[in-house]
Amino acid sequence: MGHGNPMLAISDNVYARQWQSLGKRLPKPAAILVVSAHWYGAGTAVTTSAWPETLHDFGGFPAALFDVNYPAPGSPDLALRVQGLLGPGTTVALDAQRGLDHGAWSVLRHLYPQADVPVVQLSMDAHRPASWHVQAGRQLAGLREEGVLILGSGNLVHHLGRINWNPESTAHPWAEEADLWLADKIRLRDVEALCNTGGFSPAVRLAVPSPDHFLPLLYVLGASHEHDQLSFPVSGIDLSSISMRSCLYESLA
Ligand code: ZN
Repeated sequence: MGHGNPMLAISDNVYARQWQSLGKRLPKPAAILVVSAHWYGAGTAVTTSAWPETLHDFGGFPAALFDVNYPAPGSPDLALRVQGLLGPGTTVALDAQRGLDHGAWSVLRHLYPQADVPVVQLSMDAHRPASWHVQAGRQLAGLREEGVLILGSGNLVHHLGRINWNPESTAHPWAEEADLWLADKIRLRDVEALCNTGGFSPAVRLAVPSPDHFLPLLYVLGASHEHDQLSFPVSGIDLSSISMRSCLYESLA
């Protein structure tokens, strides 16, 4: 999911409403595993808190955003399953302190406003190559059979330096070009092209200036199956340089 700017968590606009209707349409998951752009650093870890706190991991926004609380429970059991599925090749630290960052709750409070579905977050190891993140997604795919929603939260096009705060702003041409190119590669399941960041065109390089908001896609792609039904329930470029495109893989079985 493209989470966009944190204010969307408390906004009523086209994106918030699309997230709300998506939450109503999807079967209610047993639990949610979130891979967020905002937990990107050294090593791999999962949250194990039974009641993860709501992190306000940003600055310069109105007090109303700092007042948001998303009181979903955690799931220590799911955290241990994730640790098992990624091991023994990967050391997965159990983090009992970490709460939910805004990459998770800004969309979840629209998708599941009751906050009644347990949420676990998985961090992204910045030292791993792109293909590793796809493989991690593959190893986690079996969780889908257990009713777990695997939710990657980032933005396919995410260039904060090129944001235009004018609400009437239109997309930068390079942002639109990159968004469509990436959507096309997703449709074709062209994992190789999506992982070959060195081969990105100038437009896509501008769109993906750092890996953090792009990599969550690779987990979801890895956890998807060839026979899944792919749709883009949300799309559009916000603030000229942020793609709000979401990719949904649903099992038809
Ligand atoms: Zn973000």
